[in-house]
Amino acid sequence: MSGCIFCKIVNGQIPSKIVHRDDLVTAFRDINAQAPTHILVVPNQHIRGADEISAEHGQVVAAMFMVATRLAESEGVGASGYRLVFNVGPNAGQSVFHLHLHLLGGRHLAWPPG
Ligand code: AMP
Repeated sequence: MSGCIFCKIVNGQIPSKIVHRDDLVTAFRDINAQAPTHILVVPNQHIRGADEISAEHGQVVAAMFMVATRLAESEGVGASGYRLVFNVGPNAGQSVFHLHLHLLGGRHLAWPPG
């Protein structure tokens, strides 16, 4: 979608630290990391947010989780633990309206989050 920053990252129009790319999903390091490992896993197709997911997105959403857990292992946080987060809407602080799964790890993550 034109104007979408994550579409531009997926399409290579703006630079990012990409750590995974396949036909369905792209993953890259968050520009404002909140933990030693902070990666965003996004669908290559534009989906506005978790509240827009429907049955037709089953394959790509499954792929997002599989990539995230594989990256957790390759980042070395699989055993110590990590958090997978979708922010939805203003109270959760969603700031980019292209579906993205945050993978956070490498430090203790407080619960509930602030
Ligand atoms: P959210 O608040 O859940 O919408 O998360 C959006 C995330 O995207 C934030 O953690 C930002 O730091 C991150 N972000 C925004 N622009 C970029 C970018 N160009 N490259 C990497 N991460 C970005």
